[in-house]
Amino acid sequence: MSDTATHPHERKVYYPSQQAVQSARISGMDAYRALCAEAEGDYTGFWARMARENLQWQQPFTHALDDSQAPFYKWFDDGWLNVSFNCLDVHVQAGKGDKTAIVFETDDGAVTRVSYAELLDRVGRFANALKSLGVNKGDRVVIYMPMSIEGVVAMQACARIGATHSVVFGGFSAQSLRDRIEDAGAVLVITADEQRRGGKSLPLKAIVDEALALGGCDTIRHVVVYQRTGGNVAFTAPRDLWMHELSAAHSPDCPPVWVEAEHPLFLLYTSGSTGKPKGVQHSSAGYLLWAKLTMLWTFDIRPDDLFWCTADIGWVTGHSYIAYGPLACGATEIMFEGVPTFPDAGRFWKMIEQHKVTIFYTAPTAIRSLIKAAETNPAVHPRNYKLDSLRILGTVGEPINPAAWEWYYEHIGGGRCPIVDTWWQTETGGHMITPLPGATPMVPGSCTLPLPGITAEVVDETGHDVPWGTGGILVIKKPWPAMIRNIWGDPERFKKSYYPEELGGYYLAGDGAIRDANDGYFTITGRIDDVLNVSGHRMGTMEIESALVSHPLVAEAAVVGRPDDITGEAICAFVVLKRPRPEGEEALKIAAELRNHVGVEIGPIAKPKDIRFGDNLPKTRSGKIMRRLLRSLAKGEAVTQDTSTLENPAILDQLGKTH
Ligand code: ATP
Ligand code: MG
Repeated sequence: MSDTATHPHERKVYYPSQQAVQSARISGMDAYRALCAEAEGDYTGFWARMARENLQWQQPFTHALDDSQAPFYKWFDDGWLNVSFNCLDVHVQAGKGDKTAIVFETDDGAVTRVSYAELLDRVGRFANALKSLGVNKGDRVVIYMPMSIEGVVAMQACARIGATHSVVFGGFSAQSLRDRIEDAGAVLVITADEQRRGGKSLPLKAIVDEALALGGCDTIRHVVVYQRTGGNVAFTAPRDLWMHELSAAHSPDCPPVWVEAEHPLFLLYTSGSTGKPKGVQHSSAGYLLWAKLTMLWTFDIRPDDLFWCTADIGWVTGHSYIAYGPLACGATEIMFEGVPTFPDAGRFWKMIEQHKVTIFYTAPTAIRSLIKAAETNPAVHPRNYKLDSLRILGTVGEPINPAAWEWYYEHIGGGRCPIVDTWWQTETGGHMITPLPGATPMVPGSCTLPLPGITAEVVDETGHDVPWGTGGILVIKKPWPAMIRNIWGDPERFKKSYYPEELGGYYLAGDGAIRDANDGYFTITGRIDDVLNVSGHRMGTMEIESALVSHPLVAEAAVVGRPDDITGEAICAFVVLKRPRPEGEEALKIAAELRNHVGVEIGPIAKPKDIRFGDNLPKTRSGKIMRRLLRSLAKGEAVTQDTSTLENPAILDQLGKTH
């Protein structure tokens, strides 16, 4: 949100190749604009057309949008369908049952494949098993599983019988799991004996036992266990059951339970970067429509693609772009178990080479850590791998620093693959602002323009548009089919968090943004709470962080403000170098150099007052920087906030010390 005029750099623009444009589904900017114009001209008509053309309905809807109880919007309200039918049966019925649906690679590199027909068989058996355990339409089922085909089977089986799933990431503690089970009022937990991560076996079933023992989970009737490692686990009869035994005992033939369009497909707790996690409730039809459409538009998915989204099924990205979107398109996707740095930091590049991945979608945090790895260990540099099968790259989860974007573009994409920098949230269900690979000219660090039908805008605190070139609050003006429907059990928090009165009916994303003065491109400047005010200059944390990351020594940086008597707020930067953490004289020297670098890149006003070095930054389990914790550290306070989703608590001690 700084005055961009002070920025000495020209914006670099990268154009998709002629070939990418010619072959794309949305081919060129005129095609993009035509779709936007259609949505603008007849908003509900546009969405109705999309929903008719892209989903199979058991009973067609007669109207697209019901806004009579805004902001509790309903889409395609009187239509009925089934999500699993739309992801599996439609392809098998179309004669594509033999096509590979999922390729799966374990932590130790073993590969399995499942076709659409086999997946439907497994989903049907498990859905019948769930029914036999008394799981009914509308019941909540918590899924606490490792990355596995079985994880997708569990989600799809819930969808098949109209049960509402809530996937909890397998890295969460017993306490966090317990809280989510209780909040959702779940009747059943699906888990695994153990999971494999980085060559180690980690418990899952034991954590479920611990969570249930903490109390408050009386609604749970059964725990179903997928046998992943064969490790020793405690079994409590008749509560606990093996997934493979249940599936073997049931028929694959399970007619889908048709549900209303608005039936809750899933609840998903947000990652907690900004506060206590919220149970985001999604619909069936609107959600699936967008998961599918964004696969078609943003990834331009084709029958012969091998699509790889590296997210965990415990995050929304793993829902929309592993469990539902690719399958709704009848695509072939690859999933992996483990971490990007095991057996070494070349894992991703090796898998792309070996499986001939064509579309690759990952997070900036992974890219930054792999840059650091490649620069310290030449053996895992991507140049050692053949990556020419790739045609499209994507990122999600945080803003990508321009320096990391350029590395990704050049070293992974060979200067050939468009990068889709997709801005969206758990709450939005799917991509909202992103380049299109065969249309949008790209600017590193900018998520560019909203998808057709998405009315994103930058406004001030009273909901009025701000001029391009001025920072403000990111909102979505009109409801859209994949939007969050509620915070589970807390409609008041839903209204307060996303539809505050001052904004006059716009959806509040919680992120700050600025539109480029010339082309209106969106750049996310950070969370609204993270805006800094230094001597009256408003600055987004993102710009300063990107300036730091553009220095060759810096792998990662997080910037927060702390109160300052003279300047109002002082900038405090937490920095991870590509080399070991410096101390003493060396730390002072590098800090001075970095301060100077930011001064040159942005301007003297943006120079951090404090710079602290760490081995890492505090991150959520989804890999995002938790700046709210750093704010306490910068002030010299103890961290007293919700840290239930913090991945690496020990780092707080290290960063809390001033040099
Ligand atoms: P919580 O809501 O609990 O604080 P969270 O916001 O991190 O957690 P998610 O829904 O997973 O949970 O993340 C959405 C947020 O991630 C966005 O609001 C935005 O801040 C950030 N984000 C995601 N993709 C991008 C992107 N391409 N560019 C910039 N920021 C992004
Ligand atoms: Mg959020």
